[in-house]
Amino acid sequence: RAKSRGRQRYELFDQTLHEEALHVLDLESDLRRAIVRREFMPYFQPIVRLDDGAIVGYEALLRWQHKERGLMLPHEFLGIAEDSGSIELIDWQIYERVFDAIPRLGAAPLYTAINVSARHFRSPYLAERLLELLETYQVAPDRVRIEVTEGALLENPDQARQTMLRLRDAGVLCALDDFGTGYSSLSYLHRFPLYALKIDRSFVSDLQPDLGGSSAAVVRAIRALAGSLGMEVIAEGIETSAQRQALIELDCRVGQGFLFAQPQPLPKLATVN
Ligand code: C2E
Ligand code: MG
Ligand code: MG
Ligand code: MG
Repeated sequence: RAKSRGRQRYELFDQTLHEEALHVLDLESDLRRAIVRREFMPYFQPIVRLDDGAIVGYEALLRWQHKERGLMLPHEFLGIAEDSGSIELIDWQIYERVFDAIPRLGAAPLYTAINVSARHFRSPYLAERLLELLETYQVAPDRVRIEVTEGALLENPDQARQTMLRLRDAGVLCALDDFGTGYSSLSYLHRFPLYALKIDRSFVSDLQPDLGGSSAAVVRAIRALAGSLGMEVIAEGIETSAQRQALIELDCRVGQGFLFAQPQPLPKLATVN
């Protein structure tokens, strides 16, 4: 019968779902253990001036040194960490390690940007706790910057604005990450004290050398928007010198990507520098 075929397929589907659920459970308990064992660490990717490649700062990127699975990237566990609420504990571990590393990352005005997950950014305690941690590690607030995605601004914009103002007044600047991929209601952007828009790498990877095509149009529009709001732009995911050149022509002066450097653990970075 046709039905039995359908049923077979259903069972297959069910089996996959079941395995997926087990995988999630596995990762969830692994995550809890990893927090206790402090298996999370930051890798650092330089952020550079596009014309001469001079380093202006670093972005700290979360890595999980898993006992059996090896080095894990955020996309493999961030969703689960966010859903289960463990992201906040993981973020704090990363920030401690980052603040501890800052003196070895070079002198001011070099800064290090940390990512704060949208859910975590909505916490009314985030700003105070971050400032306390900076104090504990004796790090000047202007050595640290924050990256949040648009999701952090949407649910409770007033709280997000308060957090940003508090941080900015203390010297910690915030950038909007992955710009152009979210819900980008342009009408609200000016309400937030952001210093930069980070152009999502999907637009950078599609840039044509002749600056035709929709990605160049989007980059141009983001550049103009940022300019009129008094913000900078930072381009993500620059992999080729053609992309670098196109960005320079579009008046984007700062960026990061494999063309310049991969994210690396601190010891390797120190030798690259
Ligand atoms: P993001 O903040 O947009 O980070 C940029 C991502 O692009 C990083 O991925 C980086 O490794 C990657 N990248 C850099 N240059 C290139 C390039 O030239 N080509 C390509 N294809 N990719 C490039 P990664 O490290 O896997 O991080 C993914 C996302 O995870 C981040 O996106 C950020 O949203 C999140 N994340 C990273 N670290 C943390 C953290 O400490 N806490 C939280 N809550 N989220 C984090
Ligand atoms: Mg980021
Ligand atoms: Mg990004
Ligand atoms: Mg991203």
